[in-house]
Amino acid sequence: MDKIKMNPIAELDGDEMTRVLWQMIKDELIEPFVELNTEYYDLGLPNRDATGDVVTTEAANAIKRLKVGVKCATITPNAQRVEEYSLHSMWPSPNGTIRAVLDGTVFRRPIPAAGIRPFVRTWKKPITIARHSYGDIYKATEYRVPGAGKAELLFTGSDGECSRQTIFDFTGPGVLQGSYNKDDSIYNFARSCFEYALSVGEDLWFSAKDTISKKYDHRFKDIFQELFDEHYRPLFEAKGLSYFYTLNDDAVARVVRSEGGFVWALKNYDGDLMSDMVASAFGSLAMMTSVLMSPDGCFEYEASHGTVTRHYYRYLRGETTSTNPVATIFAWSGALGKRGELDGNAPLVSFAGCLEEAVLDVIEGGTMTGDLAALYEGEAKSVSSAEFMAAVYEKLTELMSKN
Ligand code: NAP
Ligand code: MG
Repeated sequence: MDKIKMNPIAELDGDEMTRVLWQMIKDELIEPFVELNTEYYDLGLPNRDATGDVVTTEAANAIKRLKVGVKCATITPNAQRVEEYSLHSMWPSPNGTIRAVLDGTVFRRPIPAAGIRPFVRTWKKPITIARHSYGDIYKATEYRVPGAGKAELLFTGSDGECSRQTIFDFTGPGVLQGSYNKDDSIYNFARSCFEYALSVGEDLWFSAKDTISKKYDHRFKDIFQELFDEHYRPLFEAKGLSYFYTLNDDAVARVVRSEGGFVWALKNYDGDLMSDMVASAFGSLAMMTSVLMSPDGCFEYEASHGTVTRHYYRYLRGETTSTNPVATIFAWSGALGKRGELDGNAPLVSFAGCLEEAVLDVIEGGTMTGDLAALYEGEAKSVSSAEFMAAVYEKLTELMSKN
């Protein structure tokens, strides 16, 4: 069989256990079938340190240029990591750097597999969380109010016009916070959400707290509604899909009682919380994929989990680990499938589909890593990462030979 040819994607390697899985996935599941063509960037912490983190920006620019990237989990250094890796600096989160270059929205979607039932019994279909990844409290200015005094909100326009409002007359110490967002970032966020919902054929929900935040959250609500009314309504209607806005507290109650099968858009902080809640309720972090979609049509695929440090230390001691590679495999299938779709490369699209099918067939047949075995409803065979990948390879070979 001839190997499938492809145009390049940006490949961003990472750290620890996921770096080990990364190599295995390429060697054992992709390269036997595809003439893998990537621009390789090593975002492993030692190389980020050696390049003064320039490699991260180069990688982000490569995604912008090539339109598609796949990223391995990476360490976001803290004080302990600075010591562990003798770093020159506490480099920023690579995901933060990449998001700043691509200005996108992060969509986190669970991978459903028969037999792995969500903790919320009514959920039958995946729930995708769309998190706005710009501004709000993540870019806020904070102040520890030392004692009595007046706090004001002052805006000075570039024309010198001022607006001044009293926030609070403090009679004693307290705290103060100023946060912001920009119309163009909110438009980009809303547009990505409508586009994503259309691309997966699911309803879109957006929730915020406009009854309390009458200007800030209300602006988000108005922008979503404006784009829907002026552009997306007919596109949604043609696919039998709907968009609706509701308050955060109402949304939470509805989500828990729902069957799933929709995209839930949230502001930055709300999305941070709800994505971890939804991931945990679906069962395993190792079954969540993440895609960053930029307003100019770039896609970056990754797993939602981290570098699985505890497993890596066991691996270094020579122990066999049962780390789940599914979300990382789906990051690869997502990126290869998107490359194929953008280029009209049908064999590549078909390979990506077969790879996902093979993974699910193996799990649904009862063979899985330890984290899933603990959740599985039937009799599960708990295997190591290497054994799991060998089973996927066997199934994939069978599926590819039928093509
Ligand atoms: P983590 O790597 O997601 O792991 C937390 C725990 O979840 C693991 O110890 C393991 O539990 C379980 N787990 C996660 N993924 C798993 C998998 N594929 N298979 C089996 N079990 C899995 O989070 P962390 O320990 O908080 O962070 C470790 C490092 O990852 C940090 O340096 C952090 O900066 C980085 N991180 C990177 C990203 C990213 O690049 N997108 C995201 C998050 C964190 P058990 O040990 O109980 O088996
Ligand atoms: Mg979080």
